[in-house]
Amino acid sequence: MSSTPVNPELDPSDPYNRTAQTFPELSEEMAARVAAFGSEETLAKGTYVFRRGDRGVDFFLVLDGSIEILDVDEEGDPTIITVHRTRQFTGELDLFNQRQVLVSGRTGADSRVIRIKRPDFRRMVTAEPDIAEIIMRAYILRRVGLIRRSRGGVTVVGSSHAGDTLRIEHFLRRNGYPHRLLDTAHDQDAQGFLDCFELTPAELPVVVTPDHTVFRNPSNAELADALGLTETIDPDFVYDLTVVGAGPAGLAAAVYGASEGLSTIVIEAMAPGGQAGTSSKIENYLGFPTGISGQALAGRAQVQAQKFGARLAISRPAVAIAKDGGAYQVTLEGGGIVSSRVVVIATGARYRKLDVENYAKFEGQGIHYAATAMEAQLCQNEEICVVGGGNSAGQAAIYLSRHAKHVYILVRSNGLAASMSDYLVQRIEASPHITLLCETEITALEGESYLQEVTWTDRKNNQVERKAIGNVFVMIGAQPNTDWLEGCVDLDASGFVLTGVHAASDKRLGVMSPYCTSRPGVFAVGDARAGSVKRVASGVGEGSVVVQAIHRYLNPLPVA
Ligand SMILES: Cc1cc2nc3c(=O)[nH]c(=O)nc-3n(C[C@H](O)[C@H](O)[C@H](O)COP(=O)(O)OP(=O)(O)OC[C@H]3O[C@@H](n4cnc5c(N)ncnc54)[C@H](O)[C@@H]3O)c2cc1C
Repeated sequence: MSSTPVNPELDPSDPYNRTAQTFPELSEEMAARVAAFGSEETLAKGTYVFRRGDRGVDFFLVLDGSIEILDVDEEGDPTIITVHRTRQFTGELDLFNQRQVLVSGRTGADSRVIRIKRPDFRRMVTAEPDIAEIIMRAYILRRVGLIRRSRGGVTVVGSSHAGDTLRIEHFLRRNGYPHRLLDTAHDQDAQGFLDCFELTPAELPVVVTPDHTVFRNPSNAELADALGLTETIDPDFVYDLTVVGAGPAGLAAAVYGASEGLSTIVIEAMAPGGQAGTSSKIENYLGFPTGISGQALAGRAQVQAQKFGARLAISRPAVAIAKDGGAYQVTLEGGGIVSSRVVVIATGARYRKLDVENYAKFEGQGIHYAATAMEAQLCQNEEICVVGGGNSAGQAAIYLSRHAKHVYILVRSNGLAASMSDYLVQRIEASPHITLLCETEITALEGESYLQEVTWTDRKNNQVERKAIGNVFVMIGAQPNTDWLEGCVDLDASGFVLTGVHAASDKRLGVMSPYCTSRPGVFAVGDARAGSVKRVASGVGEGSVVVQAIHRYLNPLPVA
């Protein structure tokens, strides 16, 4: 039933088997420091201290007795995932945000506990950095363990060839939500499951929650609401800073804004990480000599922003921005409004597509824009195509060549030297599993319900080749996500946001920042900004330093 290939009970890399770090026991001295932030309570055996689906739950440290952490099994009965005993503590990543928690907590015996309320928990994390480090590490490992064991999550039932199954899996994975796939194309248990829930193939994919609620092909926004992934937004609260977009640039702005005392909210259309979140390995980001996956980088940045108090509203694309009195109002798809004194545009860019017949039919059903572990699984021992000559195409080709039978890279130009970093070019040239086809374009895509055959044409001699290929990775650059800004700030001819000397209304030295747009109080950073360097590090840099300009805007020096 599970898509996880390993037996987690035996796997030493499973965080749930690394108990000293995942479920640490604080020293007596540390427990005393923690206790100073909360109040002691005596609870009878069987008392629920939180239940799956609650938001904003408190932190508990066990003094005597125990707290059992419960998931529900497939029959809907509670099962114990772990038991916290003396000087162990409850919680996982959801203690840093307002999402619905994934598990329940219940005293396993008559117990004495320290309860710490949310604001005091945040104070404790800031005031006691050595304890915060232990808690933070444990929380990250606990979430990784939940995902690994598909605990506390949902079951997705559908064909791994179907675009909507992939969309839903991507959405859950990118948001760090535990789930397991019951693949109707390959899994023998699938029919029994469909019969049990009286589902027809036409209703797939479906998402089934532990309480057996069934969502038929839900949209990302529906899913986010149903699973409590979206934080509730108070429409009357005026934040200091709204960051729109949670890619590297937006997350950096949130970390620096929140850590420097600005009340900060991040609005994200899909999931934290942006384009970087779709990269299997970022190798040129400072401090990670062996590389880091985009999703791991984004996950850490998200926790860091939330640790400093930033709020994160996901699956809510911004659709408009306007000024009402002193505050900007960002309108969200579906109608919500977020008010703030300053807005940072960090909506990045989206993938360009190929101009080939049937292209849209195969998006998500053979055509991909990211090369993560999920796509790599689809390519096992198959021939595949990567289209594009930039660094993302190069990274994807090298990564996928470890899984696929053979990788064909198709580029329109006559080589890679001008568009790709030299280290990638060298690895591609050295690989027996990769073939570079220059001046070659895809000219036909065919298949019944999913991609099965690809035809390409060599423009040097017009020779045509047709191959049984079911997975094509299109990595030919991106265009800015700035449609929602229409009329609000000045854009260049390609739609990127103009900033600095090209846009700022007040060009006085000391007032103008390279990130000012044509609207005072609206800034732009990262890939969406005209003239920016389209890289993770530069996006992070821009998102970090824009906060200084925001402080200057909010607290202007008196004019002499
Ligand atoms: C596959 C791949 C591999 C890459 N590898 C590398 C690499 O190795 N090294 C490197 O330096 N760079 C790499 N890059 C480039 C790098 O990822 C980008 O330059 C960087 O992510 C840009 O960051 P950003 O925050 O400006 O924008 P993005 O990463 O594009 O993030 C923008 C975010 O805004 C959200 N958004 C868009 N519209 C809205 C809206 N209306 N409302 C709310 N949210 C919205 C999006 O969902 C997205 O999450 C790679 C890119 C790709 C695609």
